[in-house]
Amino acid sequence: MTTAQTRSVVRHRVVVRGVVQGVGFRPYVAALASGLGLDGWCRNDSGAVEVEVEGPAAVVARFEERLPAEAPPLAVVESVQSHEVPPERGPGGFRITPSQVVPGARTMVPPDTATCADCLAELTDPQDRRYRHPFITCTHCGPRLTITLDLPYDRAATTMAGFPMCAACAAEYADPADRRYHAQPVACHDCGPTLRVLAPDGGLLAEGTEAALAVAVVALRDGGIVAVKGLGGYHLACDAASDRAVAALRERKDRPEQPFAVMARDLATAERCVEVGAAADLLTSSARPIVLLPVRPDAPVSPLAAPGPTPQGLGELGVLLPYTPLHHLLFADLPDGSPGAPPVLVMTSGNASGEPLCVTEEDALARLGGIADVLLTHDRGIAVPVEDSVVAWAPPGPPVPVRRSRGHAPLPVDLPGDTGGAVVLAAGSELKNTVALARDGRAFVSAHVGDLASLASRAAHQQVTDQLLRFHDRTPALLVADRHPGYASRAWARRFADELGVPVHEVQHHHAHLASLAAEHGRLDEPLLGLVFDGTGYGCDATVWGGELLLLGDGGRSAERLGHLGAVRLPGADAGVRNPVRTAALALLAAGVAPDGTPVGPELTEAEARFLDGAHRSGAGLVDTSSVGRLFDVAASVLGVRHRITYEAQAAVELEALARHWRATHPAAPVPTLPMPVLRSGGTGGPDVLDPGPLVRALATSDADRGARAHAFHLSLATASADLAAGAAARCGATTVGLTGGVFVNRVLLAATAAALAGHGLEVLVHHRVPANDGGLALGQVAVGARTLDTVQTPGR
Ligand SMILES: [Zn+2]
Ligand SMILES: [Zn+2]
Repeated sequence: MTTAQTRSVVRHRVVVRGVVQGVGFRPYVAALASGLGLDGWCRNDSGAVEVEVEGPAAVVARFEERLPAEAPPLAVVESVQSHEVPPERGPGGFRITPSQVVPGARTMVPPDTATCADCLAELTDPQDRRYRHPFITCTHCGPRLTITLDLPYDRAATTMAGFPMCAACAAEYADPADRRYHAQPVACHDCGPTLRVLAPDGGLLAEGTEAALAVAVVALRDGGIVAVKGLGGYHLACDAASDRAVAALRERKDRPEQPFAVMARDLATAERCVEVGAAADLLTSSARPIVLLPVRPDAPVSPLAAPGPTPQGLGELGVLLPYTPLHHLLFADLPDGSPGAPPVLVMTSGNASGEPLCVTEEDALARLGGIADVLLTHDRGIAVPVEDSVVAWAPPGPPVPVRRSRGHAPLPVDLPGDTGGAVVLAAGSELKNTVALARDGRAFVSAHVGDLASLASRAAHQQVTDQLLRFHDRTPALLVADRHPGYASRAWARRFADELGVPVHEVQHHHAHLASLAAEHGRLDEPLLGLVFDGTGYGCDATVWGGELLLLGDGGRSAERLGHLGAVRLPGADAGVRNPVRTAALALLAAGVAPDGTPVGPELTEAEARFLDGAHRSGAGLVDTSSVGRLFDVAASVLGVRHRITYEAQAAVELEALARHWRATHPAAPVPTLPMPVLRSGGTGGPDVLDPGPLVRALATSDADRGARAHAFHLSLATASADLAAGAAARCGATTVGLTGGVFVNRVLLAATAAALAGHGLEVLVHHRVPANDGGLALGQVAVGARTLDTVQTPGR
């Protein structure tokens, strides 16, 4: 650049898109431009932040370089477009000018964010006017998605609409130099929501911050259960160190064994509970997920929090750090337990298993009144239920997403391909439901809804869908659903499509899983092999699939079944899933092993034994499935780990825990070999089959200890699956294999399969953004739908 060019004055019009409203973007732009001595202005329009800057060309260039790089913490800059306009040489300086409303254009809502360091400092400063204010927030932190009813994101369109700002808050809100400039949830002791404590019958026990906190703290200290209203719903909290409190919570919630997450006061306390290691950044990130980490033997947490088959229970504990001012105030007031033991609270979702979070006081009283001793609540509404996000992390492996929700939703995932402004809406799965909306290169995946079996979940599904559609101000041109005829999500999609007069595109369950993996990696346009292992899904041939080798092709539109797990026989659908011992007995009989000589025999009731023996011979009442989830059930029961389950995937979770524990305590021991042959289809053209029979037989008859066999089971399945995939890869020329489906939340299997595939020289794709389980399914559905938009009949378009 010559000196003349550097000195010449230019004016640029810059349009910034992404999450750039409600995150302090305009004050940031003003400070950056003023600091560089540039003139001009910036403003919001409905879909973007617009900027004009004028000054020496080199300085304008520096401004444009720094603009995305130094953006405020909650901003997500997706694009910066700039073009030259004639210089105006008007009045000097840089101004923020009034917003412009552009009909139809929509910006993005930021996710909910943990209380920031500046707000925490004020919260604990007796001189500050927001000292101990339970709703302290600023431009960089606090509720967003969970208070947003509509767009544009203004206070009037949030659940803060009913709290007019006092003069002091209004002044901060209006001052571009203030860190609460345009922070929609801003409030203080004078104008904010009110904390209160209710009895389970709805009676008012205390009102106002200090009175309410005092009652809640006493209840927690005395071993009681407190329902606490959070960002996206109610939690149930109790003293995690107290066996009595945790046992009472289990009993009242009718949740005998499913692990509870715990909230630690701070990182140092978390480090006393679990091996934090490299997960410190994740735990303290603004998303504040629950992170499943190896539990410490001396953790100040009751063993009842995460019971399992090893001396350390499941060997892992889900831990999270406080993320609302209310959490921080509770921990500030809670006394230490026995000498040196800092307070740790069980912090579990306030709902029945699989149901969505309670979000209204009325709902909380109805559904949690029989569980909680008191409810710590307030009058700031929750627009939509949003659960805590969950990440599992067993070093040295990578973090594995288990639930993508608070802190992430509603941020989009890139989805290459233009939909021409049209919106595609995917209804999601039946379990761990999320919904997704695709539009012009982006997929917006909702927060976690839950299992659609209950009415409450279906209501939440509708609520989440309504909010998503309002954010985009569009009617869907296409709906996408699972192919399963029994799914409530499919029935919902059909009804809604009928109302709108638009088509429904059905995507087979495992096809959608693989498309979701390809979509999050931006690799829909290349042939991708995938091992898709999960519990159950409706197959293309109307049987129950769940151990599939698929080849994704045609830009993600098609999936060809190249291989699968050989049949595991399931005695009745739901009852079979709840009773792994029955599946195990049938698998043993099929493998020529008498159940009586194994841990399975004594666990069967007489009636079960009689029925299964007859069913084995006649085949009556049995469903064949290629589900790897069911094979895990078989292995867990054959090894005597788990015969009947009280939560989904319990047998597999405990088998994994046992395998991990054995490896950790026997680092150098040789792993027994369990055979699992691949039956090649040869010239028939049918899919190859992984034969489970020899594996089941060896599991039952090997004399290695059961921990060694649990580990060997994972390794043998991984090796055989990799062989299956490598054989197909060689035939079809694919070089990449994806690992997806809920079974691959199992980190022992994930690591072993990835290593075995790498040993074949294959590239391996795993999930980083959405879960491998059904929580990620909607992304795959919407990705296939967006690719199908042009080829389906769309009446009226
Ligand atoms: Zn803040
Ligand atoms: Zn105020």
